Amino acid sequence: MIVGKMKPFDEILSSVKAFKNILIVGCGSCVSVCLTGGDREAKALARELSNPDLFDQSAPTLRVETFQRQCERDLVKEYLKIPADTDAILSLACGAGVQTLSAVFEKLPVIPALNTSFLGALDEPGTWREKCVGCGDCVLTSTGGICPIARCAKRILNGPCGGSSKGKCEINPDLDCAWQLIIDRLKVLGRIDEYERIMPLKDWSADRGRGPRLSQKAANEPFE
Ligand code: SF4
Ligand code: SF4
Repeated sequence: MIVGKMKPFDEILSSVKAFKNILIVGCGSCVSVCLTGGDREAKALARELSNPDLFDQSAPTLRVETFQRQCERDLVKEYLKIPADTDAILSLACGAGVQTLSAVFEKLPVIPALNTSFLGALDEPGTWREKCVGCGDCVLTSTGGICPIARCAKRILNGPCGGSSKGKCEINPDLDCAWQLIIDRLKVLGRIDEYERIMPLKDWSADRGRGPRLSQKAANEPFE
C-alpha cells in the first residue's frame, strides 16, 4: 500500500492562498486506509482552511469530493466532476494520483496536500512500515520473504554488514537489522543452509535508475 503523510498545514495554506474556488479531493484508496488522505481527512482539512482569519481577504470557497482511485485516469475522466468555477484542485492522493489529475484537468493547478512516503504494510494499528521499493527484480524467494533492498539501510544482498549488533541496525538502533530478520526467518523455514550461498549480482536494469518505468499489458504493447 502507498503510504502518505499530510504536509505541514502552513505549507498547504501558502500553496492555496492565491485561489478563490478550491476543490479538495480525497482519495478513497491507499491514503484513505492509512488515514492521511481519505474523505475524513479531506473534510478536516477543509474545516481548517475555512477559517477566515487565515486569509487577508475572504476565505476561499472550499468544496470537498472523495474519489475512489485518483490514479486511474479513465475513471477520473469519466466520473470526477469539477465545478465550473474551480480555480485549483487540492489533492490528498499520492503523487501518482496528483499527476493523474494534472493530466486530466490540464488547465487547472493541482496541488498536493500529502507527501507520498513509501510502499508499506501495516505493522501495528496506525503504523505502516516500508517493505518494498519496487526494484523490479524481486529477491524475496532467497531471503525468506524479507526484503533486503527496502529494509536494510545499506541495501546489501549478502548481509549482515559488520555493524549489526544484537539484532539491531547500526544506522538506527531502533530498527531490526533486516539481515538478522532474514536469518531468523530462514531458520524457521528450515532453510538456513541457503544463507551460506552468495547471492549473485542483482539485475538492477528493472530498477528506476533508467527513468520512469512503464507497466505493459503484453510485450511491446503500451499500457496506455
Ligand atoms: S526485492 Fe524488490 S520487488 Fe522484492 S520486495 Fe524488495 S524491493 Fe520489492
Ligand atoms: S545493520 Fe543490518 S539492516 Fe543495518 S545496514 Fe547492516 S545489514 Fe543492513
